[in-house]
Amino acid sequence: MDAQNPGKKSRFVKRKNDPVPVPALREGILNGNRSSLAKAITLIESNAAHHYEWGQQLLGEVMPHTGNSLRIGITGVPGAGKSTFIEAFGEMLCNKGHSVAVLAIDPSSSLSGGSILGDKTRMEQLSKNPKAFVRPSPTAGTLGGVHRKTNETLLLCEAAGYDIIIIETVGVGQSEIMVRQMVDFFLLLAITGAGDELQGMKKGIMELCDAMVVNKADGENKRLAEKTRRELNQILHFLVPATKGWGSRAYTCSSLEKRGLSEIWEVIKDFESKTKEIGSFQSRRSIQKKEWFYTMLKDRILTDFFLHERIKPYISQFEEKVKSGGLTTSKAIEELLDLYKQS
Ligand code: GDP
Repeated sequence: MDAQNPGKKSRFVKRKNDPVPVPALREGILNGNRSSLAKAITLIESNAAHHYEWGQQLLGEVMPHTGNSLRIGITGVPGAGKSTFIEAFGEMLCNKGHSVAVLAIDPSSSLSGGSILGDKTRMEQLSKNPKAFVRPSPTAGTLGGVHRKTNETLLLCEAAGYDIIIIETVGVGQSEIMVRQMVDFFLLLAITGAGDELQGMKKGIMELCDAMVVNKADGENKRLAEKTRRELNQILHFLVPATKGWGSRAYTCSSLEKRGLSEIWEVIKDFESKTKEIGSFQSRRSIQKKEWFYTMLKDRILTDFFLHERIKPYISQFEEKVKSGGLTTSKAIEELLDLYKQS
């Protein structure tokens, strides 16, 4: 549950006393039914307590059917061409016989209630493709809540048979680290510009990625894109690789003209086979499961604490005492925790 947003109204129409929808949703998902998948995701995204329970029950039941996709993360500054790239790349993968689910994490929706990724109509063509499933970012809740919802949505999509999952995020804030924790391959979409743009590019984010792709390598921009690619390669050469046994490199593409996309797919397939061979693919997945366990544990403890019937009324009282100087912060915390343990 979303610890700091418990009262948020749910879009899921079922009421508490309705029959539990889990068995029907489970069947629908395992049969690849898109409307069951969409309903199940709405359940996962809901903040109502009984929806949370149903969602967790459903996840438990479909869990044996998860884990079989290739998970790809894509980031880049607004305007880098992420949605154009994913639309073209996703279409190409569908034409090659894959089924593709696209999910998004939009840090702006958590921080300000606004949205960088979600405001415009995105990936219209791909949304209509019967082999693709495009789901916008969950809009309600903290970034932690969005993290849980996206990760669980990913598992549901895998159970529904999507063999490639793309998670998109925008190049601001912590969301890249979050996406890196969920995916096998992380791609940073870059654009050309003045040299200072390169310098401004955060080294930390470059260190997370398995490939950088300079988009918009078309028309007059083509030569500049090539130059940027070479410069990026020089920097990548000196960085610690994001994945053991794999050297991250830079490439160019034009999403608009659909050029360079199959080469990028070849790189990703090469990555998959090499890292599976040396075991770093599997060990990353297992580390991710461990990290996920602790993330969920913390989320659960927070929820339990903040929604605890006996603790809730005290929290604001203690807050007042701290604000007025009547109690030190650490004393207030100790007293609150004592009350929690007693209850
Ligand atoms: P996002 O904010 O990263 O999702 O970027 P968009 O996909 O919305 O693209 C931003 C702008 O860049 C749009 O006007 C696109 O048409 C344009 N664009 C995207 N990819 C390319 C490309 O490969 N070449 C050119 N010339 N323009 C592109």
